[in-house]
Amino acid sequence: MRVALLLILSILATSAQAEPLRVFASVLPIKTFVEKVGGEHVDARSMVRPGYSPHTYEPTPQQIAALASTRLYVRSGLPFEEAWMPRIRSANPSMEVLDARSGMALRTLEAHDHGDEAHGHDHHHHHGHEKDRHGHAHAADEPDPHLWTSPALATRIAERIRDRLSALDPANAADYARNYRAFAAELAALDGEIHALLDPLEHRRFMVFHPAWGYFADSYGLTQVPIEREGKEPGAKALAALIEQARREGVRVVFVQPQFDTRLAARIAEAIGGGVVAVDPLAADYADNLRAVAQQFAEALRR
Ligand code: ZN
Repeated sequence: MRVALLLILSILATSAQAEPLRVFASVLPIKTFVEKVGGEHVDARSMVRPGYSPHTYEPTPQQIAALASTRLYVRSGLPFEEAWMPRIRSANPSMEVLDARSGMALRTLEAHDHGDEAHGHDHHHHHGHEKDRHGHAHAADEPDPHLWTSPALATRIAERIRDRLSALDPANAADYARNYRAFAAELAALDGEIHALLDPLEHRRFMVFHPAWGYFADSYGLTQVPIEREGKEPGAKALAALIEQARREGVRVVFVQPQFDTRLAARIAEAIGGGVVAVDPLAADYADNLRAVAQQFAEALRR
């Protein structure tokens, strides 16, 4: 009798272990954080698939169906989520939602200081920015959703993931705590490396097409100068002002990200006799990618 009971219990325990917790994250870097903390106990997926823009992303029917067996969704306030959260929640009302932004001091996106207005020129939106109900993808007074580009904030997101996974799955809380500590140490080392690379730089402003690097810039005392504001490309007058500013500051590199059209950035780079360099804020290999990005920034600013 007792043996049979133990057998049943051990079968139950084994089947519980064999069924990892399904977690959806809005973007690949946050999926990586979930995997770092959750290890073998989670089946982590990214809602925005590789190569897609988080500004215009539309979940597939398969992804919506997969939400039915999902225990946790980690959101980060990206434009696609503003539009899709009601449907994501209603696909599985018992799924928990963790907002990566909760309790964090959010920066606002770079102020709109274009010399002219680009409103009404939607044919320029060939990079696929979808208008939300406010009429643009990122408003200047909107909180910046690209939290994860700072290793310090990535650590805090990982901490929240640890807490939520531990609450959902207390049996493995010790593993989540241990995995978190290892990941936090990895991020602290990365942070030190990036400081060593960027702290000595004299020039501290870099030009970027889409303003995804604000938290990274804040962490290391840099300033991003975005070409795109409020999700729009600049008009002719603003473009001329940006080129003038770039010349004045000796900018030689315009940073772009693979998910956006790079033609306008290439035109600016050509006008200043510089080049375009791609850096990806959405890479899945978080630490290695951020180290490479920091090297690219250092190279562009060392002059
Ligand atoms: Zn963005």
